[in-house]
Amino acid sequence: MIRYLKEFLIAVYLLTHYDYYFERISVMGIGFPLVLFVAMFVVLTIALFMTAYIRQSLIRHLFALAMFVSAVFFDVYSRVTADYLTYSSFVSLVYSGGFIEEALYQYRDAIISGVLGGLPLLIGIGLKPRRRMPVPGALMVAAPVLGVLLLSAVLFVRAGEGARGLPVMYTPLAYLNLFAYESLHNTVGPREPVNLARIGQPVGHDIVLVIDESISGNYLDINAPFGVHSNLKEPHAGVEIFNYGYAASIANCSVDTNVTLRYGGTRGDYVRINSTLPSIWQYAKKAGMHTVYIDAQRTGGNLQNLMSAAEKKDIDEFVQFDQTSVRDRDMAAAAKLIELLNDDKSQLVIINKVGAHFPVHDKYPDAFMAYRPTLPRGQFVEVTDTGERNGFNGQPDDWMLYRNAYKNTVLWNVGEFFSRVFAQANLNNALLIYTSDHGQDLHERGNPGLNTHCGGDPVEEEGLVPLVVIQGSGLQTLDWQAALAGNKDRSSHYNIFPTLLQLMGYDLTGVEAVYGKPLSVPTADDFTFNYRFNARLGAKPEWKHIDLNSIVTPSQAPASMAVGQ
Ligand SMILES: [Zn+2]
Repeated sequence: MIRYLKEFLIAVYLLTHYDYYFERISVMGIGFPLVLFVAMFVVLTIALFMTAYIRQSLIRHLFALAMFVSAVFFDVYSRVTADYLTYSSFVSLVYSGGFIEEALYQYRDAIISGVLGGLPLLIGIGLKPRRRMPVPGALMVAAPVLGVLLLSAVLFVRAGEGARGLPVMYTPLAYLNLFAYESLHNTVGPREPVNLARIGQPVGHDIVLVIDESISGNYLDINAPFGVHSNLKEPHAGVEIFNYGYAASIANCSVDTNVTLRYGGTRGDYVRINSTLPSIWQYAKKAGMHTVYIDAQRTGGNLQNLMSAAEKKDIDEFVQFDQTSVRDRDMAAAAKLIELLNDDKSQLVIINKVGAHFPVHDKYPDAFMAYRPTLPRGQFVEVTDTGERNGFNGQPDDWMLYRNAYKNTVLWNVGEFFSRVFAQANLNNALLIYTSDHGQDLHERGNPGLNTHCGGDPVEEEGLVPLVVIQGSGLQTLDWQAALAGNKDRSSHYNIFPTLLQLMGYDLTGVEAVYGKPLSVPTADDFTFNYRFNARLGAKPEWKHIDLNSIVTPSQAPASMAVGQ
């Protein structure tokens, strides 16, 4: 038995994924593609065993580690999303690496299961071989490399498709290979300067784009009867609020939406526009405005959402809150915004809020625990009466707790944020656009998985965001009211960039020709979001249309209103 331990462990690892292979085979059916699939499967499996017989311990251990990490990555992704890891999702994950710490927290059970499940592979390859294969040593070392290259070639030809059902340890390695290739062969041209014509006066007011994080349009009181109190529904002295209702996001992943909000990519032409046309900062500077970026999510000067050092050069004031706890960062952002609105400069301000990204256990203070029972508080302390000790396993009961914690977070990070802004800011010379980067899958229908967004097979709520325009009562900008009735519940993130340019005084005809329609005209929007944003190597994006008749909204008022409102 011990003599065959190596082979036994690798076989056990491969067999644990039998349902994954047969799912692929049953989709393919009998035919020539099946022959190719089986051939590919056999070649990759042989290469795997050859890896395990490499005689040089160090080289064998390195391959064992690489394949183990790759397999665990694939497994954890599948457990978390209940979905297959596509190349597009892989690229989105690489770009959103900044959330890795939080992901480790929310998904730690899935990660532990994935690591334990991968151990037979790690040990199986790593163990000292007791047999000698009748093959030259160099060929054995080359085998795993050739396996990854072979799969990469197939993926390259098939625009990222073709790894499904094959031994999983190769898939992320092949994706990484493709990603490296694409990064090296970036054929994007240089970024153009501002060429659009401006008409009229200098901009005499502030323009603010508030990009919330993971705030689903269906959880706010402005859109749903039992939505969370946002402070955007009731009138406030001195301002007008135009609620564009439900809007479609650009994508269901933060990075993809954010970069497109800053560069104006359209549904039909976002790759070229995002990589070669001017940023919103460049347009603002050209319009004579001061530019301010408030990033409440990152610290220490780290850039996110594909912002480059070159882009940052056009930002006059770059704000992060290194000394503030995550729970209080949106309030710090509110304070900074109030300060900017109360000075007399005309600024373009873009804010990335903390919002309600997972984990939401502790993103709100105790006084805002209006919805109960909720997720356990603190790392080990239990504040709730649920008896739930170890956080989150993705069962329906867990999601019920999660939704309550999410609503408490919204009450704080949206409701209280706007409460402070309306109370303390001088909005006479202010124009704010409020939205979120994407919506959330809060698993109201009992669908499996631990994820809330970025999935490759999203629910409609993942692309459902709020869209609100807030303007000082005396300020004359665009005629919001004229198109409001027609655009409400029918517009999208794609209408925001042209709106910002029109606000800055750029000529509407020129703006529309490149960036599409602003909110001041009938938007005639597709009402779809992109869930294969990183469609690479010739693949096409995938668009999900949102049918508002199938949207789930919260069904309960808070059990106890801890907050006096
Ligand atoms: Zn996000």
